[in-house]
Amino acid sequence: MAISPMMSQYFEIKEKYPDCLLFYRVGDFYEMFYEDAKIGSKVCELVLTGKDCGEDERAPMCGVPYHSTEQYIGKLINAGYKVAICEQIEDPKLAKGIVKRGVIRIITPGTITEAGLLNEESNNFICSIFCKDGIYSLSAADISTGELHCTFFKGKDSFEKLMAEVFSYMPREIITNAEKDDKEIAYIKARLGNVVCTEKAELFEPITARLTVLQKFGSEAELELTSDELEAVHNAMGGLILYLEDMNKSAPVPIKHFTFAKEGQHLEMDITAKRSLELCIGAHSQDKKGTLLSVIDKTKTPMGARLIKSYIERPLLNPNQINKRLDAVEELVKSPINRDSLMRLLAKFSDIERLASRIAYKSANARDLKALEYTIEKLPSLKEMLNGFQANLICEINSKIDAMQDIAKLIFEAIADEPPALLKEGGVIKDGYDKNVDYLRAALRDGRGWIATLEANERELTGIPKLRVGYNKVFGYFIEITNSYKDKVPERYMRKQTLTNCERYITEELKDMESTVLGAKEKVENLEYEIFSNILDDISKHLDRLQQSAAAIAQLDVLCSFGETGDTLGYCRPEVDIGDIIDIKDGRHPVVEAYLKDSMFVPNDTYLDSSKNRLALITGPNMAGKSTYMRQTALIIILAQMGSFVPAKSARIGITDKIFTRVGASDDLAFGKSTFMLEMSEVANILKNATSRSFVIYDEIGRGTSTYDGMSIAKAVAEYTVSKKCGAKALFATHYHELANLEDTCEGIVNYNIKARKHGNDIIFLRKIVRGATDDSYGIEVAKLAGVPNEVIRRAKEVLNQLTTENARPVEYK
Ligand code: ATP
Repeated sequence: MAISPMMSQYFEIKEKYPDCLLFYRVGDFYEMFYEDAKIGSKVCELVLTGKDCGEDERAPMCGVPYHSTEQYIGKLINAGYKVAICEQIEDPKLAKGIVKRGVIRIITPGTITEAGLLNEESNNFICSIFCKDGIYSLSAADISTGELHCTFFKGKDSFEKLMAEVFSYMPREIITNAEKDDKEIAYIKARLGNVVCTEKAELFEPITARLTVLQKFGSEAELELTSDELEAVHNAMGGLILYLEDMNKSAPVPIKHFTFAKEGQHLEMDITAKRSLELCIGAHSQDKKGTLLSVIDKTKTPMGARLIKSYIERPLLNPNQINKRLDAVEELVKSPINRDSLMRLLAKFSDIERLASRIAYKSANARDLKALEYTIEKLPSLKEMLNGFQANLICEINSKIDAMQDIAKLIFEAIADEPPALLKEGGVIKDGYDKNVDYLRAALRDGRGWIATLEANERELTGIPKLRVGYNKVFGYFIEITNSYKDKVPERYMRKQTLTNCERYITEELKDMESTVLGAKEKVENLEYEIFSNILDDISKHLDRLQQSAAAIAQLDVLCSFGETGDTLGYCRPEVDIGDIIDIKDGRHPVVEAYLKDSMFVPNDTYLDSSKNRLALITGPNMAGKSTYMRQTALIIILAQMGSFVPAKSARIGITDKIFTRVGASDDLAFGKSTFMLEMSEVANILKNATSRSFVIYDEIGRGTSTYDGMSIAKAVAEYTVSKKCGAKALFATHYHELANLEDTCEGIVNYNIKARKHGNDIIFLRKIVRGATDDSYGIEVAKLAGVPNEVIRRAKEVLNQLTTENARPVEYK
């Protein structure tokens, strides 16, 4: 048997998209065949059927209705697949032979624009990584918001730095010129879980990539870099744009500008630090519960919710920029009534960034335009409110917000007040906007009115009381007469359909009116769709204005959020300068404080400088609050450099360039690193990269080996950290009380301890940090608190007693 023409066409198209599941449009369905159908039916829980295609066996097949594909595509994308949408690209009514089909879009995890498939509060980044001759360049785009961020790394530890940057975007998809077996790909895949990685060297051909970038961004793309750096940056950007163009051919990629940041423009934190400080995602979870973000995010718009994450990920280094933000935040803190009005207004805003992208890609519907109109309508009031502020940054934001009343007017005049969700069924364009639409609608109304009166007229003329005028999709309009009145049917009636109890007829007049009505309906639907597409085109011309205003609103939203936390959580304005002192009075841990319900958080001071107080060696009982104290210092530095108020009575923060943490015990067996090996790799990384402007947390060092080995390593690390070779400021928690004598032998090291008191057999934690060392860890008391059986606690005390009195002779277990 010969293969059917439709299936030959299917094979021809499918061959070009081997790595995609092909959604092949047939009538009102998208069908999947063969392997695609097996995957689709399994992932989407669809019934797997079969189709005769001219082969010996029926082809496995499953399908989804064309108007509700989103949920199925969402499931397939989440399962790591790409979906190619193959449409009928000519009107089936006009087609000669088999209707032409073609792939109009490929949906991949990094190219989604559908609101229903995106998380409002998170960006959806796709990264492009180009590596050559030791330079790694990275471009990260979110086409749902129109952002593109570019950077590159070269020299020492460039791969690690690249990875830290990639992880900060949490991309859903990566394209790269690296090959499948390269260490980069293995590393990314193992760490990022379900990221979809496409290795496609041909996308990064230098001449094409550069031309693409120049065409898209013009002179903005001529960055002041050496030629090899520029080539690397252009390759990553150009490759990404070409890929995005390939994925959706319906419109140019909706990105108007890009940001470029050279290494060293932001406070650097590696993956370990971001994770252990629980900035945007928890150390042991994938969500924001228990993170800094969860406490400080009071943003009201999706744009702001996305931007605040980027502020946390990339605190600033330039005190002027930081103070500019702080001036704005201070004014917002001091004007709670105005801030409240602003935030109430912002809460009514739609996601302009994502609406703009959908408009540019022509995937917006009429309701999206109305949402845009309602938001734009509020911009004059917003600008009016902002006029009342003095801070430079707020004034700048105000000048960047374009009131865009022309766009609001266009939508108001053109789009019906309550438009339907579907675009092709009419009712989208407002009466009075287009003469032809009005004319066709009148014809449709008249025709329908005429048909409605026909029934009464014909009943009278024929004397058939049960005569009925009806309509169905297949036969159109008809006059229905039951068999008992058959003999009364006039000659002018023409038989159309015979049913069991009745006959259906048509008349010349009804036929004419039917073609007028049905013709008008189809015409008006097509015309409305065409007008709507033109309106999308018209608004797309203003993509730049929409994106710029959206970015300014996002910034305002984040500043208001800082104002709100600053005011309501009792934070203070930090003094940020290029000095080398970190002096925090009554600092608190923002997250622990927020989660402490019954008890009060005990504030503590921190003082570090670059001479006598470089490293605070902190001893004290388990559970005393050492980790909390060290982390709170890091978080206060981060908050200050983000331009936020900080949880303290006062804080002076000398700009910090990098934050490192060496915390906790976990292993990385997948990468061949035991707990101790990992600990030492982290220490090595810190000692190699920390500068005199860096801040380091050492939460226990040398625990995973023998006591003397561990203690020796801990001592050497502390000494090296304060030495001229490194000179970083550090908080160093340890249970090796023997290290306390470093205060006398090594300049820059100062002893602190966190107070606790024994009360009978129990321990009371005072949570207060004080000068000096302690020589008790109260480990056994804490073990008791944790519920270790009494028998074991008793025995531990005996052993401890023997050890301390018998001068550390090994003790046998009885
Ligand atoms: P370990 O040595 O066992 O790791 P630790 O000294 O690092 O312990 P943390 O983990 O910092 O102790 O703190 C233990 C608990 O004490 C925290 O989970 C928190 O609930 C509480 N805590 C810590 N610091 C304070 C504080 N300043 N005020 C109130 N409660 C605090």
